[in-house]
Amino acid sequence: MDNTQKLIELFKEFPGIGPRQAKRFVYFLLNRNPAYANDLAKLLTEVRSTIHSCDTCFRFFPNTDNTTCSVCRDTTHDKKLLMLVSHDVDFENIEKTHFYNGYYFILGGTVPILEKNPEKRIRQNDLINVIEKKIKNLPAQTGGLTEIIMALNYNPEGENTLSYLIQILKPITDKNKIKISTLGRGLSTGTELEYSDSDTIKNALKNRQ
Ligand SMILES: [Zn+2]
Repeated sequence: MDNTQKLIELFKEFPGIGPRQAKRFVYFLLNRNPAYANDLAKLLTEVRSTIHSCDTCFRFFPNTDNTTCSVCRDTTHDKKLLMLVSHDVDFENIEKTHFYNGYYFILGGTVPILEKNPEKRIRQNDLINVIEKKIKNLPAQTGGLTEIIMALNYNPEGENTLSYLIQILKPITDKNKIKISTLGRGLSTGTELEYSDSDTIKNALKNRQ
């Protein structure tokens, strides 16, 4: 396999990119001046060493001297609330509404229907560890976790992820009397959080059930 083909194969792994688009990316890069490709290559290496995953919510943030992101470090957020989202972009969209003041956990994916290894598609173990740690550090009676909000897409894969999460979290939520809520029907069927505007998300949060 020559380098062109190797690069095509790499681009094909990007979300939503098929072989034809991957090929177009490669020829686009070859047609641009060399500085463009050099800048891109440099940035690709740098982004991995300067951006880190938060050890509590697992979202990506610029590396400072901390292993925990600014949201998780901010103790003024509502400790009773934990919101689960699939991706970093969903987190960004919800933060933009300035309506939610609790904490987050980024699942890092979704569970497709009929998936044989759902535990490999989301950060299942990390999620359970984070929830257990939260409960242990601050019990509900003293202002700790009382509600987990599932902010997932309203499409079949999102719904499937939701039922899977409810199933795996049930032993913990039942035992600790934690309510599981889902976004209200401000979002219509097929809606993806990534493409929802602030007002829609705000309403869905307000009407969560
Ligand atoms: Zn964090």
